[in-house]
Amino acid sequence: MFRPSTRHNIPSSSTNPALEVKLNKRQSGVGNSGSGGPSSRYPYRLNFYERPPTLDITLEEFETFAIARLRVLSQIESLTHRSLPFAQLQSSITNYTKQHLLLSSNTARNVNLDEERRRDEIGHWVLRLSFCRSPDLRARFVRSELALFKNRFETDDVNERAQFLRSLEFDWQVVDENEKMRYEKELRNCMWEKKDEAFRSESWFKVPWFTVPDLVGPRRVFIRAGMAYVPQSLQISLVLQAFASRLEKALELTAKNLPRLDEDDRLGPVIDHLASSFLSGVASSDYQSSDSEAAQGVVTAEMVDDVARKHFPPCMRNLYDRLKRDHHLKHFGRLQLGLFLKGVGLPLDEAVVFWRRMYGATMSDDKFNKEYKYNIRHSYGQEGKRTNYPPKSCQQILTQNQPGTQDSHGCPFRHFSPENLASFLANTYPQIDRTSPEMRDILDSVKATHYHVACTRVFELTHAIKKGDGLGEGESVAHPNKWADKSRELEREVIDKIKKKEDSDEMMVDP
Ligand code: SF4
Repeated sequence: MFRPSTRHNIPSSSTNPALEVKLNKRQSGVGNSGSGGPSSRYPYRLNFYERPPTLDITLEEFETFAIARLRVLSQIESLTHRSLPFAQLQSSITNYTKQHLLLSSNTARNVNLDEERRRDEIGHWVLRLSFCRSPDLRARFVRSELALFKNRFETDDVNERAQFLRSLEFDWQVVDENEKMRYEKELRNCMWEKKDEAFRSESWFKVPWFTVPDLVGPRRVFIRAGMAYVPQSLQISLVLQAFASRLEKALELTAKNLPRLDEDDRLGPVIDHLASSFLSGVASSDYQSSDSEAAQGVVTAEMVDDVARKHFPPCMRNLYDRLKRDHHLKHFGRLQLGLFLKGVGLPLDEAVVFWRRMYGATMSDDKFNKEYKYNIRHSYGQEGKRTNYPPKSCQQILTQNQPGTQDSHGCPFRHFSPENLASFLANTYPQIDRTSPEMRDILDSVKATHYHVACTRVFELTHAIKKGDGLGEGESVAHPNKWADKSRELEREVIDKIKKKEDSDEMMVDP
């Protein structure tokens, strides 16, 4: 992954507007940018992304804006596969987008609306390049983008949304009063609300029936002469259908032109990486090792066994159990577990003690000091290039250095057979019975390649957390260290509660 610090123009790859993140002149500040309000380029919060941006952007922006959006789309995809109640799904999406891809309404104060909208737009267009390559990727991208758009549509300022819809100039035919009364009986049959007043105040549009399949299926529209009569209250279906079909067509057009971009050795690797991140089910998740140490305290070699039993995610629990059993791990296993332990808060001197103990009598002190100690110091940034390597994210574990039959690194959800996975989970976590519906749920998610969904469910089951809550506010597991941090945080909350109760009991007893 490259991170150039200089500013580059992204060259035009095509004259086809479907492909163009082509960008020549800097226009991000067109009109009234800054904190005063929207510019003429971005008059609304909502966007159908029909005009390719023509701005100067750096390669760094090209990548970081796309990664930010990818994270949100991955989270949305994960949430939609976790069978959450509708309200919980929407509030989880709203909370997550607020944190990672904020897009404010025109009425918002003290925000740079243009900058937010520019990031949003560029991220979308870059991801189009990554996701146009196969029908499967296109379908997944459209589904996630649609869910994001729907969430924004429903949470948008009412007036701004109405203005945005007017700007799209849909060719919906308005049903006049005569026609409405002519088909009164049929139209009333399609309405939930049966009161006369509701029918009188409702207005209707006519659209070709095949453009609203989600309304035709459950018979929520009246169809005549090839046209579906859609009430104003179901307008969102029309808008979403238009968004999805336009995006699908644009992606197909982009796919036809994509080979021209493959020749660009700066953009190609970024685009490939983004698609593979999404395919593995998670976007990379940043993690600062110092976060854990500051929040949870230092872990000593002595404490690792206890922390492993209570707070390690399945991938690390598997590695730790193998290390305990065999007194040995192969290179990538040592790396995966070692960096994770560093993230959990095991300092370098304690890491040396821990690994020495785990190898035990299978290795001489001399061999350990010569061959292994150096590697441990290296991973803490004390040898070689002195890079302080971060713990590996789920996306890295899922996609890099695929394990062979003798290896123990990787992710059990992806790299174990279903039988092995079921045995491993049932043996490791007493809360998950091998024949339970929960186990079936987990295996179904794995079969559908939603590894992070399966892992999040295991977290919920092993921490007595309500289905859908995940690591908090619906967040899915995207990093093994986030699992461990959340698990330790939950334990600390329980301990604090018990302590408070004991203190108040003591006060009651004391005269
Ligand atoms: S999903 Fe991530 S945290 Fe869970 S087992 Fe796999 S790699 Fe580990």
